[in-house]
Amino acid sequence: MFQPPSTIAMSLIAPGMFIIFAIVFCGAWLVERRRHYLLLVACACVFFCAGASVQILHLPDAAYPNAVISSAFYTSAVLAAVEGILRRSQRQFGLPADLAILTAMTGFICYFCYASPDLLARIYIQNFGYGAILAVASLQLIPRPGTTAVDRGLFWIMFVFAVQFFPRTALTIGPNAPFSANAFGQSAFWQALQVSLAVMGAALAFAVLAAAFSDLLDDLRRERDIDPLTGALNRRGLEDRSNIVLRRVTTAPISLILCDLDHFKSINDTYGHQAGDDVLRGFGAALASELRWSDLVGRIGGEEFAILMPDTPEAEAVAVAERVRARAEGQSYEKLTDGRRATASFGVIERRTGERLQDLMARADQLLYAAKSGGRNRIARAAAGVTEADLDVPVFSAATATV
Ligand code: GH3
Ligand code: MG
Ligand code: MG
Repeated sequence: MFQPPSTIAMSLIAPGMFIIFAIVFCGAWLVERRRHYLLLVACACVFFCAGASVQILHLPDAAYPNAVISSAFYTSAVLAAVEGILRRSQRQFGLPADLAILTAMTGFICYFCYASPDLLARIYIQNFGYGAILAVASLQLIPRPGTTAVDRGLFWIMFVFAVQFFPRTALTIGPNAPFSANAFGQSAFWQALQVSLAVMGAALAFAVLAAAFSDLLDDLRRERDIDPLTGALNRRGLEDRSNIVLRRVTTAPISLILCDLDHFKSINDTYGHQAGDDVLRGFGAALASELRWSDLVGRIGGEEFAILMPDTPEAEAVAVAERVRARAEGQSYEKLTDGRRATASFGVIERRTGERLQDLMARADQLLYAAKSGGRNRIARAAAGVTEADLDVPVFSAATATV
């Protein structure tokens, strides 16, 4: 069957490009094997190339088997791409749904080949079907406040890719299918399909690559900023985030709690370093259970933690510190064999106008020191109305003064 070289060359653009994308996604997956979605997207590229090869190389040559096989590959390509993109965001259609869609699409194509041959119906089923699959998937990724630019880009590219299937098909093919395969290759429909696949497919593939790269950066940033033992931020992570909060919030109250485990060295010395690590983990969990998502908690030293609490006046922060103190005091540890408890001391302050993080830390540290020298396992807060100069005279909170 003769096809002009220009038509063949055009047909080769998209598959050629997707072979390269398949290699790139496979390579990315080999580097980051936990990201299975990269493998799914690589499979989508391979399925697409397989479908295009079946059509371009006429393998098999008979029209109907060729239509059924190529359509099965194209449907698999769309489903694998959609599953890959959804799984990146912890969503999915699921294998049963994928198999049902593949079976239904292939069933329709078979019907309009063998039972009631109709090229026009096959074209509409495939194009509208793929548009619908992509549209339903993109609706699961609608951006919400806080969605990153990369995720927004991925959503919009997928959404436009989905929507274009409908007007493009309707406008380029209308109500009449081209009669011969030759005319089909020359038709506006076929050429618009090739161009749209090359452009939108490449845009989608680049968006997924950008998303994978941004995921990798997020992971590296998280590893850089998180203390692996307790899951709290490390000093750097706390400082970065606190500085952002302190810059943004100028009028609402912000409080800082500084806390330090009591006689922790003796816990290490008596029960071993592993037991000390257990206590640190337990204290980190006690903090996490008493805090809100907007509070920033960091392990800023060996057994010293800082909690920055936006929108929190000092009295509220003292109440939180008291709950954490009581929880730590009540917590028992398997490795502290004689039932010894790991207590902590706290310094709590509220930000004064214009104070930066180091100013807050310095003031809270003086109070923490006072709590230690006052007997430990207690909370120290500045007395109402005290000035900077009075800070070496801390007032223990009523709740803990008797501890
Ligand atoms: P104080 O009540 O005055 O705070 O006394 P302390 O013993 O808690 O304080 P000190 O600063 O003397 O000791 C802190 C100890 O914390 C010393 C250090 O070996 C231990 N430490 C620091 N980081 C870790 C860690 O990651 N794991 C464990 N198990 N111990 C740690
Ligand atoms: Mg200590
Ligand atoms: Mg310490």
